[in-house]
Amino acid sequence: MMRLPPFTYVASRTVGEAVKALSDHGPTAMLVAGGTDLYPNMKRRQFEPSVLVGLGAVAELRGVRGSARDGFTIGAATTLSTLARHPDIGRHYPALATAAGLVSSPQLRNMGTIGGNLCVDTRCNYYNQSFAWRKSIGFCMKKDGDICLVAPSSPRCWAVSSSDTAPVAWALGAKVRLVGPTGERVIPADALYRDDGIQYLTRQPNEILTDLILPPPDGVRSAYLKLRRRGSFDFPVLGVAVSARLDGEIVREARIVLGAVASQPREATKAGAALAGQRLTPETIETVAGLAAGPSRPLDNTDFTHPYRKKMTRVFVARALRRIAGLAASASVSEEVG
Ligand SMILES: Cc1cc2nc3c(=O)[nH]c(=O)nc-3n(C[C@H](O)[C@H](O)[C@H](O)COP(=O)(O)OP(=O)(O)OC[C@H]3O[C@@H](n4cnc5c(N)ncnc54)[C@H](O)[C@@H]3O)c2cc1C
Ligand code: SF4
Repeated sequence: MMRLPPFTYVASRTVGEAVKALSDHGPTAMLVAGGTDLYPNMKRRQFEPSVLVGLGAVAELRGVRGSARDGFTIGAATTLSTLARHPDIGRHYPALATAAGLVSSPQLRNMGTIGGNLCVDTRCNYYNQSFAWRKSIGFCMKKDGDICLVAPSSPRCWAVSSSDTAPVAWALGAKVRLVGPTGERVIPADALYRDDGIQYLTRQPNEILTDLILPPPDGVRSAYLKLRRRGSFDFPVLGVAVSARLDGEIVREARIVLGAVASQPREATKAGAALAGQRLTPETIETVAGLAAGPSRPLDNTDFTHPYRKKMTRVFVARALRRIAGLAASASVSEEVG
């Protein structure tokens, strides 16, 4: 059995207290929200904080505020279960409700939060292993070692962004609020991520992600599809998030963002641009799905073979676009293979 190492738990009651605790303890401290990713990582000694700053008791971080006219703001400690069944989120941002409802298992969604999901660690077959397993192969540069075992001549880590909600937040044009010791800043959700398996967030170590800010839905249709081996609780090995604003039958603007194909969500910009001004005919959908597969370059470090995951990008993008074309504003998709 793997046990948690000893640590000190600081139960913050406000964002201010949490920011202060993070700053006071410096690099020895980490934030914990639901703990559904952090505690297993601590048991495997992937994370070794001596202080955990808890967000569970910070009431100002919980809940969904706003309206369809002004857009919605979701507190970072709002659970994924709450989001998955929230009537306004389901109605106006179906891709987000779908993605939240497809994260791991019901128990983990009851504890896991949107903030933790947006900030969740990148993954790799050589890293998400026990300490003894990793030691037996000499570790890797993401923790305790100095080379990449997937690409030994590479100077960087290629661990995979495996959040279900990150590509959706990007596709919806959402923003995030970060609060640190010198104040707060609001940045586009896409600016939160970096294409690096180790430094995968632009968040500073003493900043807290406090809110996910969704723009007014304004008739935008959205869909999320997830590829994983076991539909009951696996991480995505491919996520496809699509959002599109239609004027009658004509697409005015669209974003297609791929999850689990790189160390950050990857936008298929050419594919999104090719949709603008088009009707969602079968021909257009096939062409755009082909374009979207271009930026999908998965490596051989998660489940399924990487050529298969690349092929499935085209299939899943086409399916997501067909759903958006065939359904009205409530287009919501959940598909897995098992
Ligand atoms: C068996 C299993 C299956 C899983 N399947 C999936 C899956 O299918 N899809 C998926 O996306 N995830 C999956 N996860 C990972 C995890 O359960 C979810 O990502 C969950 O949403 C994490 O949220 P949390 O609140 O528990 O985060 P925590 O575990 O508390 O934290 C995760 C990370 O985010 C940081 N953090 C938390 N809150 C904040 C904040 N407000 N500001 C800044 N940093 C913060 C923490 O310091 C930590 O680095 C799985 C985990 C397990 C164990
Ligand atoms: S991609 Fe390379 S460095 Fe990164 S976790 Fe995997 S083996 Fe380690």
